[in-house]
Amino acid sequence: MKLLLSLILFIFVAFATAHNDCPKSAYLDVPPSDLVQAKDLSAADKVFHEKYMRIAIQVAIDNNAKFAAAIVHKNGTVMCTGVNTGRARIYHGEIEAIVNCTQMYGKKTWEDHYLYTTGEPCVMCSGAIMWSKFDKTIFASYVNNMYCERCFNQLPMDSNEIFKLGYGINHNTQLIGGVLEEITDTFFPSLCGTDNSWGVVPLCSENWRRSCPRSSRYFGY
Ligand SMILES: [Zn+2]
Repeated sequence: MKLLLSLILFIFVAFATAHNDCPKSAYLDVPPSDLVQAKDLSAADKVFHEKYMRIAIQVAIDNNAKFAAAIVHKNGTVMCTGVNTGRARIYHGEIEAIVNCTQMYGKKTWEDHYLYTTGEPCVMCSGAIMWSKFDKTIFASYVNNMYCERCFNQLPMDSNEIFKLGYGINHNTQLIGGVLEEITDTFFPSLCGTDNSWGVVPLCSENWRRSCPRSSRYFGY
């Protein structure tokens, strides 16, 4: 009996010792990727990016949709567009645009191209954009404004929390946020307290407001 107890104790101690120094995750924690906000763009960049964001916005309006995207070569050539028509829950505007462009041009990766989207890429689309190796992604409305302020259903994560993971595929996509959000935010009237099926009760930090600093390696937050 005594031998058995000693054996059990030995196994328990060995097990505990073997796991005590394990980290919470296999991966190193890194800060969010760079996020340039529209207000910090140079005058020339602001003009350039607003021009192409208007194309994505017009595609959304023409299709009576909220989410649309346009893929543009950095020389200003518009390659293709895409719109979320709801034909499947995963066919978001960004995915539609990437699939359309791939079918049109047979390209698998999009270095030297920019993807414009009316809404900040969700977790799924952020991953798709990274895998497609876009040079820049420019979005209008922020997820946290749609979700926390307007109660619009979203996977609640800043896209630069996904874009920070580019080190795993040897690619970085620059993020620019808030370009013409004053237009696209009108696509998202508040659903708070309504019975709209796209509405949710958001779980957000108590004192968060849209004027709070946005997390970014670029800004050091
Ligand atoms: Zn998405």
